[in-house]
Amino acid sequence: MSENKWVYLFNELNQAEKHVGKIWDKVLGLLGGKGANLAEMTRIGVPVPPGFTISTEGCNAYVADGKFPDGLWDQVLSAMKNVEIKTGKKFGDAHNPLLVSCRSGAKFSMPGMMDTVLNIGLNDQSALGMVKLTDNERFVYDSYRRLIQMFGSVVLGIPDEAFEDILNDYKHDKGFKADTDLTMLDLKSLTEKFKTIVKKVYGSEFPQEPYEQLKLATEAVFKSWNGKRAIDYRRATNIPDDLGTAVNIVSMVFGNMGWDSGTGVAFTRDPQTGEKKMFGDYLLNAQGEDVVAGIRNTEKIEKLAEEMPNVSKQFLDICAKLEKHYHDMQDVEFTIERGKLWMLQTRNGKRTARSAVKIAVDMANEDLITREQAIMRVTPEQVDSLLHPQFDPVTKATAKKKGFYLTSGVNASPGAAVGQIYFDADTTEKKNKEDKLDTIMVRPFTKPDDVHGMLAAKGILTSEGGATSHAAVVARQFGVPCVVGASAVKIDLEHRQMIIGDTLIKEGEWISVDGTTGEVFTGKLSLTAPSLEEQTDLLTLLGWADGICAKPDIRKLADGKKTRGLQVWANADYPKDARRARSYGAVGIGLCRTEHMFFEPERLPVVQRMILATTSADRKAALDELLPSQRSDFEGLFEAMDGYPVIIRLIDPPLHEFLPSPEKLLEEVVTMRVKGETKGLSKKENLLKSVQAMHESNPMMGLRGVRLSIYMPEIVEMQIRAIFEAAANMTQKGVHVKPEIMIPLTGTVKELEWIQPRLVAIAKKVMTEKALEFPYKFGTMIEIPRAAVTAGEIAGLAEFFSFGTNDLTQMTYGYSRDDAERNFLVKYIEEGILAKNPFQTLDQVGVGRLMKMSVEEGRKVRPDLEVGICGEHGGDPASIEFCHTIGQNYVSCSPFRVPIARLAAAQAAIKHRA
Ligand code: PEP
Ligand code: MG
Repeated sequence: MSENKWVYLFNELNQAEKHVGKIWDKVLGLLGGKGANLAEMTRIGVPVPPGFTISTEGCNAYVADGKFPDGLWDQVLSAMKNVEIKTGKKFGDAHNPLLVSCRSGAKFSMPGMMDTVLNIGLNDQSALGMVKLTDNERFVYDSYRRLIQMFGSVVLGIPDEAFEDILNDYKHDKGFKADTDLTMLDLKSLTEKFKTIVKKVYGSEFPQEPYEQLKLATEAVFKSWNGKRAIDYRRATNIPDDLGTAVNIVSMVFGNMGWDSGTGVAFTRDPQTGEKKMFGDYLLNAQGEDVVAGIRNTEKIEKLAEEMPNVSKQFLDICAKLEKHYHDMQDVEFTIERGKLWMLQTRNGKRTARSAVKIAVDMANEDLITREQAIMRVTPEQVDSLLHPQFDPVTKATAKKKGFYLTSGVNASPGAAVGQIYFDADTTEKKNKEDKLDTIMVRPFTKPDDVHGMLAAKGILTSEGGATSHAAVVARQFGVPCVVGASAVKIDLEHRQMIIGDTLIKEGEWISVDGTTGEVFTGKLSLTAPSLEEQTDLLTLLGWADGICAKPDIRKLADGKKTRGLQVWANADYPKDARRARSYGAVGIGLCRTEHMFFEPERLPVVQRMILATTSADRKAALDELLPSQRSDFEGLFEAMDGYPVIIRLIDPPLHEFLPSPEKLLEEVVTMRVKGETKGLSKKENLLKSVQAMHESNPMMGLRGVRLSIYMPEIVEMQIRAIFEAAANMTQKGVHVKPEIMIPLTGTVKELEWIQPRLVAIAKKVMTEKALEFPYKFGTMIEIPRAAVTAGEIAGLAEFFSFGTNDLTQMTYGYSRDDAERNFLVKYIEEGILAKNPFQTLDQVGVGRLMKMSVEEGRKVRPDLEVGICGEHGGDPASIEFCHTIGQNYVSCSPFRVPIARLAAAQAAIKHRA
């Protein structure tokens, strides 16, 4: 039986590939990321210090049995011989010693989570050899005492403090401040003291035998796979426990062997901006730590061309080769030892969102990657961060250090905002409009009549509510950064202040709100502000994304038919939102919530009169007053979306939302009575009676949506007239209109049978009056589970479905969309009962199943049924992917999320390509 192969020299990549199959992901699994890349660099002729990798299979066998499996150590010994031959050095030699590092390296990067030991092979004897080689006795004894400390703590389990205490006492006695004050003799003396510590704490001498050092170090790295740090990290990042870590044994090279040596780190492109130029630092006659530690001022990488032109040229050629090979920007580490360049590491470089987009687009234009690869390289979150003002991470970290962090809530609408706090909409607006202040509106929750304050605010903070609360929905729609449900915020409206823990913040004081993460800070954090029009690379990338989705055969539907990918539409209530949505790339409006128009200050009294009317004639009169303004809003929408569909939803919320709250009215009535004020009292009392009469215990499940239209048809009749008159007027002006009328909250087809023909009749009447014809559709929202399970019946009448996943989630789970997030939902997520907040990311298993069923049943009856989504999930990348897979035609989201959705739609199309 042939012996298992546990050890792979860096030039044995072929054998690794033979063992696991020529799949890079599996090679990464066997050799770990670092080992696989060192072997790959060796294969393509990049100078890598000789070395080898002990595979993850070796680690797993060691972890299972608590000892090296048969053959492993012999293979290490023979690999070491090979390294000795390649380097011309000898392990532990007194004249020309080979030193090696022993580094962990798992399939996925787990920075700092496992152990590493450097300078293995250094002992009393080889230290002398190193002195001869480097002519730098101080460096050698510094390295030696570091090895004893590192080995002592990592391998022998001696607490670091044992060494640190000795070092600190020594420095204290000598009056030294920094390690750099230590002389060669000091370090020599410390080396001896460290050896004594090992003897005292561990019970035997620091091993002088190099192979014993290597063996123990290797075992320690294997064991560190199951160290607490590593396990915690794996839990947090979903890395499986059974992968194991590889161990890389690499011959040490030194950048501090004189002025013809050096060391550095570099990115092959600028990781901040993405610009195609090397970005990095180096130091001559220095070791790696010096570059990072900033003890000496580093040189910019460009300067290497002057100091060592040949090495610089070779380095640039290697970097170009690596980029070409890996098809991505690389982050490299290198060392020059006596004029010879060695590459110690390469990996795909981390980068900012801006740089990610530029690098992806540039590389596609350079034919280094395809356009599809470019699309997959950028995450929707990165696009998101490019479109909203942000706090950069350094600013936030500093603020946290200074104790400015206050609390966190639900990250309801992304972006960062800095402003002075005000506790009601009127003051927020006034301070902004009249005093030109940057304001943050702080409320327990918001209501439709707070919208003017929300619009005037730079940011919004609420102590109640969740991701689909009024504050969240409106804030996202208008792109106002918003944190909701920050329950630690205790708002004291009476004293115009809020208290968070021990911090009291009064009205007018500054706070900073991060709607991307949900964090809240006291004081003013600095902001960075972007704009889409200026981001040409992003526009290019999104153009490519649209191209992918537009391919007519990119997606295969359940019935086997091939179609294009998703379109991206927007939720927009006003013409200016529609214009923004279009400029962000939306090709339709998926939801216009018409009731928002009723809240305009000059319209609200008419709306209230209409609601409180006791006769149909009075109600009609009020509605006649509202009609012109609704019509002109719709005209604006059609004009902005010329040529694209506009879905207008008929009135949805319960009517009490348009009236003052009964508590407030009661308070006013009581005050008037106490003060003996009679003027206007009976009017107020009547109003109070009407409002109280409308009270419902469960308004979200009460008189709203289509029920309201059936109960009080005059409102929607007016709305239909306004929509069709607007469409006709705009058609006369040459605008290409495509109105789609959406009936909300349908639960049974009988509701549609009752209302829809009446509305269609009005639509036809208007077209006859205007002597015009244009295409239109009538459809419904699917937001009640009963509608989903009877979708086949409903599709008999409805020409389109739009999933209202806010309500559908609420009603499927039975969780209140207004309250759940501020109490039990957080606990549910912490306890793992729910993986994610279902109001932010679609619950594919439950709610999604209803959606899938609706599409299938609906299309059986009406094969060309248009299907979309207009709940908040329409802008969430994971939910968008799901919508693609169930065959929806489009997703609709707030204008600010349109670019994110365009990218996510293309990524879904590529991932699930037909
Ligand atoms: C929904 O329920 O998902 C929806 C879009 O309607 P609203 O949020 O207005 O209830
Ligand atoms: Mg709804």
